[in-house]
Amino acid sequence: MTGVQEKLKVIAPATGEQIGEIEETPIRQVEQFYHRGRMAFNDWSQLPLKKRLDYLRTLKEIMVNQMEAIAKIIADDTGKVLTEAIIADIMPTLDGIDHMCKHAEKVLKGKKVATPVLLIGKKSSIEYMPRGVVLVISPWNYPFQLAMIPVISALVAGNTVILKPSEVTPLVGKCIEELFSQAGFPEGVIQVAHGGKEVGAAFTTGKPDYIFFTGSVRTGKIIQQVAAKDLIPTTLELGGKDPLIVFADAHLERAAKGAVWAAFTNSGQVCMSAERLYVEKTIYPQFLALLKKEISTLRHGSDRDADVGSMTFPAQIDIVKEQLTDALNKGAVLETGLSPEEWEHGMFLPLTVVKNVNHQMKIVQEESFGPILPVIPFESEEEVIALANDTKYGLNASVWTKDRQKARRVASKLVSGAVVINDAIISVANHGLPFGGAKQSGIGRYHGDGGLKIFCHEKSIIEDSGRKKTEIHWYPYRDKYPLFLTLFQSYFKTNKNWIKFSKMYVKLLKKG
Ligand code: ADP
Repeated sequence: MTGVQEKLKVIAPATGEQIGEIEETPIRQVEQFYHRGRMAFNDWSQLPLKKRLDYLRTLKEIMVNQMEAIAKIIADDTGKVLTEAIIADIMPTLDGIDHMCKHAEKVLKGKKVATPVLLIGKKSSIEYMPRGVVLVISPWNYPFQLAMIPVISALVAGNTVILKPSEVTPLVGKCIEELFSQAGFPEGVIQVAHGGKEVGAAFTTGKPDYIFFTGSVRTGKIIQQVAAKDLIPTTLELGGKDPLIVFADAHLERAAKGAVWAAFTNSGQVCMSAERLYVEKTIYPQFLALLKKEISTLRHGSDRDADVGSMTFPAQIDIVKEQLTDALNKGAVLETGLSPEEWEHGMFLPLTVVKNVNHQMKIVQEESFGPILPVIPFESEEEVIALANDTKYGLNASVWTKDRQKARRVASKLVSGAVVINDAIISVANHGLPFGGAKQSGIGRYHGDGGLKIFCHEKSIIEDSGRKKTEIHWYPYRDKYPLFLTLFQSYFKTNKNWIKFSKMYVKLLKKG
């Protein structure tokens, strides 16, 4: 130990220039973070929800006023284009705040529920109690939105939060920390720990009351194992290999434009990007031509009008390269783009459509997280459903046809956390819809009502007035068995015959 603070150099992926430095949070501070979080929890959890929402409104105002500056930090730190920083990172966060301000009270205030006749005279209700200190670990692809939404949801529900943003985009983590500080959140309510996987791992073992993780399947599994040791509940938002299905009766021009956007937005570094394109055989050549035409109109860059930005994480390029090389070695053919040995150095990758792939190839089975799109022809509805379901992932999917019934029929057979019809990805932008994955795409859901409830203990309360001396189901049991037998048989057989039941119940009550 030198005692010198570790510093993370921040390199802008699009330019290769150093744009900052971040001090890593020393691992020895983990305990202090949790201590501060627990101290702050006492007051924050007791604060009326309306007051907690006031802090959010202030945060939102600051974000709106500083939108351009935030967009620039996101774009510089990730290499994504400014337009995408605004539409996919900042806007959904603001909209999420609005959604919570509108619905949190109703969702969190709890509710009365009916009490069954067998528990006559009692009252039942559900209460939502915050869990404590929530650890949020977030990724680099949408480093603003994917950190902010879980953090804000946990805070609204009355928890305090420790956020560990991705070390790949640390300036966004710093920006989030500053925004909360400007909004005046009380000390310890939201703390940001900077650093890499060692820092993340140290906080994971620090016994948080809940872990909300967004990232790779590999890390998700590690976190789940660590959490299991102390039975810490988790939400895991992991990867995807989303299918995009185009039937011959779709609006083909729209579908081609949509497919290109869904595959290449954020340079394909999207857990819900289209990573497999299934096209009905009768329109296959025509559709390939439309894809090619659409792609030819796009421009890489980092200026205001650029369409496609750079990759964010250099190591991701190796994964994309390896999958594409493997496919080409096994007979796949490029429809657009270049083979990896022809790629220029740097972080901008060609937009690559690959045909002649088979379903066993890595490019079809494993998450690529880059701008490569394998295209596969299909002949029937059944066949494409089977193909779409044939990976270990199940995050999102999209179905394109003018036949709405067919679209809905296919949608309900896809093993997937969400399906978008005649569009792609956008389910995540509706905060009224739950978000999360099936199979290895994750565990749990957020957004929607559930996105607040996961950060609470859902507590059942049943109350009696306390005036009666005893209850029929209490001791002594003497002579009660035959009475209960008749009572339950009659009750469940006679279709809940209320009159008969209440007579017997009164008889039993009198008995004592
Ligand atoms: P991605 O490549 O999508 O960023 P990772 O799963 O590697 O996926 O990283 C997501 C987040 O998880 C990052 O903030 C990273 O620092 C953190 N992380 C990585 N490994 C661990 C770990 N073993 N324990 C806790 N957090 C980790």
